[in-house]
Amino acid sequence: MGPLLDDLRETVERLRALASGGLRDGFIRRAADASLIDEIAFAGEALRLVEALLVESAGEVIRRSSSPLRDERLTTRMGCHDVSELLQRLTRVAPASAARLQRGARAVLVEQRLDGEPLPARLPAMREALIDGEVGLDGLLAVAGPLEAMGERVPTSDLLAADAVLAAEAKGEGPDAAPPACADLLRVQALAWSAALDQDGAEPREERALARRGIRLGRVRDGVVPISGALLPEVAAQLQRICDAIDSPRSQGPGVAFRADADPGIGPFLPDARTRSQRHHDMLATALSVAASSRLLPTIGGAPPTLVVSVRAEDVIAGSGWAHVEGVDEPVSTAAARHAGCAGVIQRVLLGENGRIVRIGTEERLFNKNQRRAIALRDGNCIIPGCGIPAAWCEIHHVIDHAHGGPTHTDNGVLLCWHHHRFIDDGLWKIRMNRGVPEVQAPKWYDATLRWRPVTTSRSRLLDRVRRRT
Ligand SMILES: [Zn+2]
Repeated sequence: MGPLLDDLRETVERLRALASGGLRDGFIRRAADASLIDEIAFAGEALRLVEALLVESAGEVIRRSSSPLRDERLTTRMGCHDVSELLQRLTRVAPASAARLQRGARAVLVEQRLDGEPLPARLPAMREALIDGEVGLDGLLAVAGPLEAMGERVPTSDLLAADAVLAAEAKGEGPDAAPPACADLLRVQALAWSAALDQDGAEPREERALARRGIRLGRVRDGVVPISGALLPEVAAQLQRICDAIDSPRSQGPGVAFRADADPGIGPFLPDARTRSQRHHDMLATALSVAASSRLLPTIGGAPPTLVVSVRAEDVIAGSGWAHVEGVDEPVSTAAARHAGCAGVIQRVLLGENGRIVRIGTEERLFNKNQRRAIALRDGNCIIPGCGIPAAWCEIHHVIDHAHGGPTHTDNGVLLCWHHHRFIDDGLWKIRMNRGVPEVQAPKWYDATLRWRPVTTSRSRLLDRVRRRT
């Protein structure tokens, strides 16, 4: 390893000088088109060769960390949890890149027999192309993915034939003398090989689907967390059913309460300004919040899975500043904190100047099941006219916030769906209690009179109202 390490060190120094010249001294900015193009091609070649070194080294780390005895593993000796952590720390790449390196390494790993003799790599020709700098990690994975997915169903001789042809394509030495294939084209060709070799339709679809199922939550960026993945059809159908169940009441004549009050200037309900995908988001939020509070989920440290939001008490009262959701890097608005706190437990933690915990206090603000049932009986659905989300899917909102002295009492609690609860601070709809009866004021553009109107969709209360009139 001595000479290799010395050479690498020297090469890195040369590269550093090159980067400095290219970037700091503006050589790249001033380069003629042809030079720029060539420079990119050379840099690409250097990248592929560096990737080859990394792939081989990662494979060696995998090999030295595969002992069943924990203390014998290289990763353990380096104080790392696993190969990914070691690679991330050494190369400063993201977990996804470390995983790609490991996948590439496994495809071209040279294992040793017990007598110390090397065994051929799974894709020996691709390994050669990698070492020659003809193919990089992207190209290697583009080939390895489809070929390895065939598993044991294809004889080794077929696999090796595919490996040889694809490696030749990668080098530009393929049968039709095409230029070296880039990663995307290699993937297309590898898929064609796997379709041809794995005649039985590759893996059974179910097995493939099971392998592909997944949900990925990305890193929070610009206030949202990207979600991607693939659901099994029955899971997607279940999600759709839940969305339908929450969404359907709006078609059952929402806003009945307003109509019962018969003000000719007011339509039956306010159109929902949300897009379809925003509605789906809010329904998922509803379902998650119902599930979390159902007490049917496994507990964490004895408590139901609870959203933990931390915020400074002054900021909640002032409605400014930021809050932090445990496990999320970016801060969220204090409105999110107020929403979480409205139907949850608030734990006040007083910190001293130096950060020491001085005092802890808890305030239960959960409406109990009897209160909840009574409120559901009084309000029917989410009390925002036209919403119609049924009580079972609703949260209970403290009309006067606890921070301003509002009690956890039925006279201060109303049904709101997740969406209207979360955005009640926007001030579009206003809610007040009038002798224990919720009243709402619609936005001005919708109801210019700004009248406060009692609301309910409770069947029994509507019936009572009709009886009183007849
Ligand atoms: Zn609602």
